[in-house]
Amino acid sequence: IICNKEDVIKAIETNNVKFIRLQFTDIQGVVKDVEIPVTQIEKALTTGISFDGSSIEGFVRIDESDMVLKPDIRTFAILPWNNDKGLVARMICDIYMPNGKEFEADPRYVLKKVMKEAEEMGYELNVGPELEFFLFEKINGKATVVPHDYGRYFEFAPTDLAEDIRREIVLTLMDLNFDIEASHHEVAFGQHEIDFKYGDALTTADNVMTFKYVTRTIAKMHGLHATFMPKPIAIENGSGMHVNLSLSKDGENAFYDENGDMQISETARQFIAGVLKHIKAISCIANPLVNSYKRLIPGYEAPVYITWSGANRSSLIRIPSPRGKSTRTELRSPDPSCNPYLTFAAILAAGLEGVRNKMDPGKIMDYNIFDLTKQERAERGIETLPSTISESADYLENDELLKSTLGEHVHDNILRLARAEWDAYRTQVHDWEIQRYLNTI
Ligand code: ADP
Ligand code: GLU
Ligand code: MG
Ligand code: MG
Repeated sequence: IICNKEDVIKAIETNNVKFIRLQFTDIQGVVKDVEIPVTQIEKALTTGISFDGSSIEGFVRIDESDMVLKPDIRTFAILPWNNDKGLVARMICDIYMPNGKEFEADPRYVLKKVMKEAEEMGYELNVGPELEFFLFEKINGKATVVPHDYGRYFEFAPTDLAEDIRREIVLTLMDLNFDIEASHHEVAFGQHEIDFKYGDALTTADNVMTFKYVTRTIAKMHGLHATFMPKPIAIENGSGMHVNLSLSKDGENAFYDENGDMQISETARQFIAGVLKHIKAISCIANPLVNSYKRLIPGYEAPVYITWSGANRSSLIRIPSPRGKSTRTELRSPDPSCNPYLTFAAILAAGLEGVRNKMDPGKIMDYNIFDLTKQERAERGIETLPSTISESADYLENDELLKSTLGEHVHDNILRLARAEWDAYRTQVHDWEIQRYLNTI
């Protein structure tokens, strides 16, 4: 395990590493990367490496653009591919202002701030995400939406054509210190899931970013296109990123209560209540694309209604059946196009508010909510998730808790990007409209 500067230098020397990729994530959740030869490592680890912050989406204006990357030593890992010109390692970085202060719009900083709040209350958040993705064929080097195979849930040979690719992704992730729990074909044609073990929120957000580029890279090596787009095919399941959550206190799972109703604690209930209260605003962060909302419709195992339940998968939040150490809640709305740092920060802030204010999540809905009529839902007070990015932006704009969690800079930029995304979409004339109206109207 790498803990200090000396460990990094030693790992570089023992493995004969030639290059280091310094990585960070922009507000939209895109990995940015600059490569340095190892001759620069001393400088990177002491003063940091400068870059132009004004060229990164949502960072800073051009007049204050000299930002500094400082690698987080614990993220040192050797990348297991493209090694013929010398080994390449990566380190994930924190971002600093030219005056040496932490940059308040660095997604890692935003998350660390909320994690500290949790710590002050005696809690640590555990997060376990389930990333789903599609493998599509490429034709003449271009990605298509032709599925790589026609397998379904848990499909096996010979229909599942991706078992070797999934295994290669798993092995690569293991080289990068992931603790893999399972991998399988998902419900849709060409769709897959690989699950890794939960960890603290920061490590897990770093892992989500790594998971995505490892998956894309291995797919590319096999001549395929991997995508985390939430809903690439209209009539198939989309790709979610369910987020499993629990709080630890003094090394114990604070969501478990042997004698509690459903064997979950009051803390778990209060945390859920906080998340339910803020979920419409959280959607703008956890479901950041126009396309995200095409996944959140009835009929495809994705949530639509704002409810919580036991093991029932039709709810937004459910309590998977394991108890004891594995007691957790699963939030089902996030999708893998989100920025995981900001998503986990928003969820944690909302949950902590619930705990702080001892909020009540209301009754569980332990039946298939999709079977209820509109009137039955109204009678039970069941609300619906936002149906567009524009709607969720309106909720985020007015959410004071999330505004202070994200900081004004990130809050403003997320709203700006969400609205630009919506405007770009609504001002287009889509193929669907041409086909529907051109000949009949
Ligand atoms: P599902 O039942 O929805 O298919 P999976 O088994 O695919 O769930 O994924 C479960 C995820 O929950 C894994 O990432 C696992 O590590 C994580 N997990 C297990 N226990 C906890 C816990 N106490 N807190 C947070 N996450 C947990
Ligand atoms: N693909 C579904 C979604 O969009 C989830 C399927 C599952 O429960 O694993 O969330
Ligand atoms: Mg799944
Ligand atoms: Mg799940």
